[in-house]
Amino acid sequence: MNLKFNDSSITVAIVGCGGFIGCHLLDAILARTRWRVFGVDLDFYRIQHRLHDERCEFMCADLADKSVVERIAKYPVVVNLAAICTPSRYMAEAPEVIRSNYDHPAALADACAKSGSWLIHFSTSEVYGRTSADSGMLVEDETELTFGPVTASRWSYATAKLLTERYIAGLKNLKWTVVRPFNFVGPYMDFMPGVDGSGIPRVLANFSSALVRGEPLKLVNGGTAKRSFTSVFDAVDFMFALFEAGLAGHLAGVVTNTANASGNVVENVAEKSPFSQAFNVGNPDNEVTIAELAYKMRKIFAEIKNVDIETVPAPEMVSGVDYYGEGYDDSMRRLPSVEKAELLLGFKAKTPIDVVLRESLTWFVGHYSSLDERRETRDER
Ligand code: UDP
Repeated sequence: MNLKFNDSSITVAIVGCGGFIGCHLLDAILARTRWRVFGVDLDFYRIQHRLHDERCEFMCADLADKSVVERIAKYPVVVNLAAICTPSRYMAEAPEVIRSNYDHPAALADACAKSGSWLIHFSTSEVYGRTSADSGMLVEDETELTFGPVTASRWSYATAKLLTERYIAGLKNLKWTVVRPFNFVGPYMDFMPGVDGSGIPRVLANFSSALVRGEPLKLVNGGTAKRSFTSVFDAVDFMFALFEAGLAGHLAGVVTNTANASGNVVENVAEKSPFSQAFNVGNPDNEVTIAELAYKMRKIFAEIKNVDIETVPAPEMVSGVDYYGEGYDDSMRRLPSVEKAELLLGFKAKTPIDVVLRESLTWFVGHYSSLDERRETRDER
């Protein structure tokens, strides 16, 4: 075990430890290190098995409470995962989405700047905005960020997240890293509408719910938008690469070879530091259109259930405004450049899309089939 991971005096604060990413990060920290965890959330159902772990302390609270913010900032490493990140809410509850994604994390950043904690803030790939179908790789420090009009309230979330990034980057004494997740998927993602949440979850959970219920998958605006799906377990590995680099402090320079204007190869030495950086975390090899995703998931579902694919309803088209409401808009392509994480942290996601989808869907079917049947029996009574 790496020396730093062996250090039982380190406590990491995880805000949003009971969420989709938080529950996997918590499990990995407890399994791979000797660290302690101070976990904050409002919902603990995904981490029931950890509630009595002697290396953990949990608090049922959110960042709206100033005393909680100050308490969190006492720990040397603070990971902030808390956010409202359900696209259907970006239209209906824009002010709440903005408060949750700007006001609260900005207050936490202020507190970390004061205490000297390293703040690892989870932003979003949505900060790249209204990308077109022919957008290329999205590069952290190069790509221009273009949002839709103010009437398209879909962009409330991205606007708040980007403002938080700018605020964090502007704080003089803050040691920070920003993470931009590209469609993380895996067990425990989101919810099943009507069972443990309401509204429309993100696409993987929504398609999984429809498959379990024998309903057609809905392809918004033809399902031509593209996303690159990333295993949450790869995302956790990214966090360990980040922890390792951050705890080791500034490392030796890293050498890359590039050709100069006259075609000669030159050596560039860059400082290999994870601080004051925004990182894309994604898997460009897993890019698919949403229609391709639907057909892949339908096929995998039929295999998991061992039924003829023709018995699983085919996807149907639906318009974005009919489905999500007025103000819906979309990013047509979100393809991450992952060079920076590879160069500075030596991290590269490795799980192929078919493996990610089978793993996620197998978990979803197992977890929700019985819960959904119980709910239907209750409703019939
Ligand atoms: N989408 C879809 N059907 C659904 C849910 C989502 O076609 O049931 C589309 C959505 O319009 C978008 C993509 O899938 O183009 C990804 O949507 P998601 O809500 O997962 O989040 P996003 O990647 O847009 O943040």
